[in-house]
Amino acid sequence: MDNKGIVVLGSGLAGYSVIRELRKLDRDIPVTLVTRDSGDYYSKPMLSNALAQGKDAAGLVLTRAADMAAQLGIKLLVDTEVHAIDRANKRLDTTSGALEYDRLVIALGADPIRIPVQGDAADAVLSVNDIADYARFRGLLGNKNTVRAELVEAHSNEHISTGSMRTEVAIMGGGLIGCEFANDLAAAGHAVSVIDPGPWPIASLMPEQAGQQLLAPLAALGVDWRFGTSVSRVDRAASGYLLTLADGAQLQTDLVLSAVGLRPRIALAQQAGLAVNRGIKVDAHLRSSDAAIFALGDCAEIDGKVQPFVLPIMHAARALAKTLAGEETPVVFPAMPVVVKTPAHPVAVLPVARDAVGTWQLRSNSDGVKMEFIDAEQCISGFVLTGRYAAERNEMSKQVGQRALPV
Ligand SMILES: Cc1cc2nc3c(=O)[nH]c(=O)nc-3n(C[C@H](O)[C@H](O)[C@H](O)COP(=O)(O)OP(=O)(O)OC[C@H]3O[C@@H](n4cnc5c(N)ncnc54)[C@H](O)[C@@H]3O)c2cc1C
Repeated sequence: MDNKGIVVLGSGLAGYSVIRELRKLDRDIPVTLVTRDSGDYYSKPMLSNALAQGKDAAGLVLTRAADMAAQLGIKLLVDTEVHAIDRANKRLDTTSGALEYDRLVIALGADPIRIPVQGDAADAVLSVNDIADYARFRGLLGNKNTVRAELVEAHSNEHISTGSMRTEVAIMGGGLIGCEFANDLAAAGHAVSVIDPGPWPIASLMPEQAGQQLLAPLAALGVDWRFGTSVSRVDRAASGYLLTLADGAQLQTDLVLSAVGLRPRIALAQQAGLAVNRGIKVDAHLRSSDAAIFALGDCAEIDGKVQPFVLPIMHAARALAKTLAGEETPVVFPAMPVVVKTPAHPVAVLPVARDAVGTWQLRSNSDGVKMEFIDAEQCISGFVLTGRYAAERNEMSKQVGQRALPV
């Protein structure tokens, strides 16, 4: 147990970013990174737009784990699961043994939410939240195509429609990630159904006029939208699965992908007695209820907000690195629009809090929409830009907080 110093849990964007930022300030503090995966560095957002680009999981790896460790000058423990945090002794219980820390950074990410469904194939529902999930998913898509390609070859004199070459994928959830997968799968030639109890795409972030912009462009790629219903049963069928929806409709599909949201991984922190809410509660310094323990990324709730996106993580990582290097630095978030990777109809949205008071105002609508969220003080506090307006996100970000022009 010679490895005190800073221990970082998790080798995702949050874990690696904070170490990279720290190393710009200090090459000497001992840092150990513990991760239950391979530790290879990849860009998670690529998971939902890699199929159409023909990328397999290996093609998504940007830097191998050993090279990350060498570049960053850290000790890296891969394939190592952390079981418990003993705060009194500043010690971790891991599958590779005990490990002591002076300061601990928790960057454990989030788990896909599993919606309970009935049926004998409920366990066949997939989710893609990391590179290993993607490898599996892509393999299943590919297998189907290989089997069908062999079928076509073996029956070269018979007609097998090219439609049967496509894997049919039913996506549970028409939110941001569901829409991205729908666009990617459809662009890669697969048949896609999106099933969502909500009223329009990405309804939790966008008003109706904006969400509806996605309907026709994705339908033109072959996406079959099913709103106002949900998946009740998944049963095995002669080939693939039979879905039964809450409205009684039935759907035959080869794969079922769930994209209904993520839940911050708080169990370890909770068991250790740290303050948690939806995420691990931290202040603007990313400090938890224990002064020696910090958290950032998808597992953290910073000043009451969980922001599971790249830009907030980068800002948090920079601030936390300074604090860890000795200069107490609160994170200050600028306006951080989220780009939805739906090339069939691009979208950029600066979301507003669920309980925000105000109204969405339509500013322009030709080949897309430009909408602003005007709050109670008549200021712009959110926006959504779709289609040709999506490119204006940086310009719009500058207007956030300013008084809105009369409509
Ligand atoms: C498909 C998809 C597309 C996305 N697209 C975008 C986008 O376009 N733009 C955007 O801003 N955001 C996007 N996001 C969100 C963004 O990718 C995430 O917010 C970010 O990658 C989360 O990083 P993280 O380090 O917090 O978590 P993760 O990357 O999940 O890392 C968590 C780490 O913790 C490790 N771990 C977990 N439990 C344990 C344990 N008990 N012991 C040891 N190690 C453990 C894991 O192995 C992993 O290394 C997307 C997310 C998904 C899933």
